Amino acid sequence: MSDSQEFLHDFHWLMDVLQSIDVGLVILDKQFNVQLWNSFMQNHSAMLPTEVLGENLFELFPELPESWFRRKVQSIYVLHNSAFTTWEQRPYLFRFKNYRPITGQADFMYQNSTIIPLSDSTGKVDHICMIIYDVTEVAVNKLQLQSANEQLHHMSRTDGLTGLLNRKTWEQELDHQYKRFQRHQHTTSMLMFDIDHFKRINDTYGHPAGDEVIRQTSAVVRDIIRDIDIAGRYGGEEFAVLLEDTNAQGAKVVAERIRKQMENNVIYYENHVINYTISIGIAELTPQMGDKSSWLDSADKALYQAKRSGRNNSVIFRGE
Ligand code: GH3
Ligand code: MG
Ligand code: MG
Repeated sequence: MSDSQEFLHDFHWLMDVLQSIDVGLVILDKQFNVQLWNSFMQNHSAMLPTEVLGENLFELFPELPESWFRRKVQSIYVLHNSAFTTWEQRPYLFRFKNYRPITGQADFMYQNSTIIPLSDSTGKVDHICMIIYDVTEVAVNKLQLQSANEQLHHMSRTDGLTGLLNRKTWEQELDHQYKRFQRHQHTTSMLMFDIDHFKRINDTYGHPAGDEVIRQTSAVVRDIIRDIDIAGRYGGEEFAVLLEDTNAQGAKVVAERIRKQMENNVIYYENHVINYTISIGIAELTPQMGDKSSWLDSADKALYQAKRSGRNNSVIFRGE
């Protein structure tokens, strides 16, 4: 009898149990040759023990992360400790198809795995046992929950029609910017803009057409601003943008680019061709503005000026 056979003989009474349990069991010798391949492994890999026994694990399963696995097993032989790997660290060790109907969303079986050292009667460790648990249901549920939470988080921060930040979240960003200014006095500006004669658009083309104008307006803004700029839908057809590291003149350049783009933007909605313009108020934050509300007020006043001076215009706030 070879060492391996003798070793397996010792465990003979266990074999029936091992074969029938619903976890994968693989026993490997020091050369990573397979010594035991239970029915779970057989069913999911579609490989019979006769094909597998005595063969090298890495040759049988080239997709196994060999160097990682060797390192893990090396430390098990040295320390005689077991090692546990969760599906969150590695989704699987063996890529098995997932057949469970409930978790049909997963293409493969998520697995937790434990590798334990096996000592013979003299205490010598020459084999390890891999235990593979199918945790697809738990994993899929957790992933779905995570993705639902992310979606909820995103929905709670953004406006459904435009995808821009909603007012509450934008105001939190405003607060954040204002506090940064108090600490570092870095230059920062705000644009506040409103669609001109929007009531007329609604009245002439209908509310859904108005919605389309709002959606396209936000798309234009998103296209023009930088990633670090923070745009929000402040009200029905009012938008606000925070421009970090930008003074009033720089903000005016951005504002004019947005304004002109809107002016040239033609919206085709059902059988209508809709042209529209916007008016923009610009306010650079200054130490004289005692709080974030006066910064907002300043932009609002400049917007009012832009409306008063004939609309389709951008105006910088110049103090009281
Ligand atoms: P002004 O040039 O002075 O801004 O004129 P205006 O007609 O645009 O006036 P105002 O800004 O006060 O108009 C806001 C209108 O926008 C009133 C409201 O019915 C409409 N509105 C607000 N939210 C929405 C929305 O989500 N969708 C649509 N279609 N209309 C909206
Ligand atoms: Mg308005
Ligand atoms: Mg308006």
